[in-house]
Amino acid sequence: MILIVVGIATAVAAAAVAWYETQNAGAQQQLEAASGSARLGFSLVRLESATVSSGLACQLGALPQTTASFEQGVSALGHQAALDATSTRAHVVAYLGPSAEVLAGSTGGAPLASLRATATAAIGGGFLCGSGGAFLAWGSGIYGVAISKVAAGGKVLGYVLVLTPVSADTLRFAGQLLSSGGTPTQLLLVSAGRYVFGGTAGGSTQRAGSVASSTVLTAIAGPKAVGAISAGGRRFTAAGQLLRGSQGRQVATLVVVQSTTAVAPTASQLAVPVALAVASVLLVGMMLVFVLAERYLNRPLRRLNEAVQRLGQDVYATPVQIDGAEEVTRLAANFEIMRRQLRHQLMLALGRSVIASTLTGNVALEQALSQVLKSLCPLLHTEIAMVLLRAQDPAGPNFLITFGVAEPDLEWSELEQSEGILGRLLREPRFVARSLLNSSERGPLEQRIGLRDCLAEPLEVEGRNIGVLIVANKRAPYVEEDTAICRAVAGQMVTAVNKSVQLVVTRREATTDAMTGLYNYRFLVGYLDQQVNVAERASASLSVLMLDLDHFKSVNDSFGHPTGDKVLRAVAAMVLDTIRKSDLAARYGGEEFVVVMANTGREEAHLVAEKIRQAVATMEVPCEDGNVVQITVSIGGVSFPEGTRGARNLLDLADRALYHAKRAGRDRVEFLDAAVTHESTPGG
Ligand code: GH3
Ligand code: MG
Ligand code: MG
Repeated sequence: MILIVVGIATAVAAAAVAWYETQNAGAQQQLEAASGSARLGFSLVRLESATVSSGLACQLGALPQTTASFEQGVSALGHQAALDATSTRAHVVAYLGPSAEVLAGSTGGAPLASLRATATAAIGGGFLCGSGGAFLAWGSGIYGVAISKVAAGGKVLGYVLVLTPVSADTLRFAGQLLSSGGTPTQLLLVSAGRYVFGGTAGGSTQRAGSVASSTVLTAIAGPKAVGAISAGGRRFTAAGQLLRGSQGRQVATLVVVQSTTAVAPTASQLAVPVALAVASVLLVGMMLVFVLAERYLNRPLRRLNEAVQRLGQDVYATPVQIDGAEEVTRLAANFEIMRRQLRHQLMLALGRSVIASTLTGNVALEQALSQVLKSLCPLLHTEIAMVLLRAQDPAGPNFLITFGVAEPDLEWSELEQSEGILGRLLREPRFVARSLLNSSERGPLEQRIGLRDCLAEPLEVEGRNIGVLIVANKRAPYVEEDTAICRAVAGQMVTAVNKSVQLVVTRREATTDAMTGLYNYRFLVGYLDQQVNVAERASASLSVLMLDLDHFKSVNDSFGHPTGDKVLRAVAAMVLDTIRKSDLAARYGGEEFVVVMANTGREEAHLVAEKIRQAVATMEVPCEDGNVVQITVSIGGVSFPEGTRGARNLLDLADRALYHAKRAGRDRVEFLDAAVTHESTPGG
């Protein structure tokens, strides 16, 4: 493409130079023609006097070759001269002796003395006929001077001097002669800055004696004495020819003015400019097409292609630039809609994944949120993302989940103490979009993390704030789309948190006893099965206690059912308080409880049971009527692997031990002997 452009440009430049030169040559030709005409005009003017002079000299030369006969001849011709002056239109004809003394002549009224001076000067100047001639200003006229030598037998007999006035007729005649070549030509004579005769010059009529046109004088002032002039909207060429006197003195200037005829270009001459014009149009057209194609087609298509590539690389954040030709613009606009939809879908999918992964139960909420942050960063072109999630109930934990934070051990307490933007957002979650944090927002903690900018979106459920989602370090201003994505993801996170909380509640409800908060029977059985398996594989010990409140029926009877419930809750709390964290307490039935102690042998279990028994015995549960309920508990215990066979059997054995305790008088702890475990159960 570049080669074509350069080639065409070179061709055009060469053609332009050729065209210019042709035009220049044309103008040059016209200038030269004018110069030639001026020289020709000069010759014509000079020829007149030279012809007369040499004619007379010939007549005299034909006389007898003696001075006397020459003088006789002169006097004979003297008379003739007066006639000649009229017939040859030569004003002055003088016959001179060998020393240029005037012998005779028709002086045209001029004193012969001054004529002699002229002749002497002319002879002295060598202005003999055929050797250049000269001009002379005399009176108000300009004369051509011609001198012819009259010699006989190698002896100069004298001279014939002819002064021919340069007349208007002479100029007109010469003008007509030169015009016959096809170029209208006028001749003018300028002397002392004025026109000697009237006439036309350069389209305007001049009177005799009027000041010569300055444009004409300027045109012929150069060294070549020729130049172009324009007058009345027409162009002329003026050329000057100096009429010199003796010793080269300037006498007058003969000016030739020619109309510059518009040269009608021939077909071949026309071919160049036409070809030039066509080439120029083609070149400009091609360049225009190239520029337009680049501007409206190539560039937008390239950008569109880059956008498609970005989508291919999972970069959805960069908007597609929409410009260029109509079709391309429409394509780009549609593509941009597609990109936005894709990004929107992606963001929704991202949010949904949090909920899905949270609900599957395999992934904890914390882990699910962490995964979303990881996906959110490339989507928004940020380096950092974090979720600050406040505990959902007073006993629950606060969540601080981060992605891209160089500080892995970042603590919730540090955030709470921060005076910078993170601390402020934690204390007062709200929407914030900062392209650049100011110094007060960049506290020591923020500086340590390297936080430069941030976009924060509060997490709210039914008007109650539960935390804040923060993305940071984008290195570019946050745009509306970023905010929209954060808001949508925050919404999904809130939903996920809600569901997670509900899930925990549901799970807890399914496994715990609503009244006491202890695990229920179903969970107990499952858990015990697990623990028996573990104990069997690890050959570890495992103990089970079964508790039954003594004469509980009478508590209900004496203090009412609600007080009975209160006592049950108090006992449950007491049991929980007494056992270790690794032990498990469950409500087995109405007023019966079970404690499972992993890695606990018979003696240790016995101690725990005793501790519980004593704690219950000393416990006082206040009633509404101001009374205090006191109660005792009987406890039966069994330790694995004393001949037990699975969880169910372990519970049966514990129950049997309990039976023994009841029978032995209540408020006591009974453990089955290893031997007893193989006896048949007495029931109850
Ligand atoms: P003992 O075990 O010492 O032989 O006497 P007891 O009175 O505890 O005997 P029993 O096991 O027959 O009675 C259990 C009583 O516990 C019966 C029932 O009214 C009461 N009870 C069971 N569940 C609840 C409960 O959820 N709330 C209340 N208030 N009472 C309950
Ligand atoms: Mg009972
Ligand atoms: Mg009881």
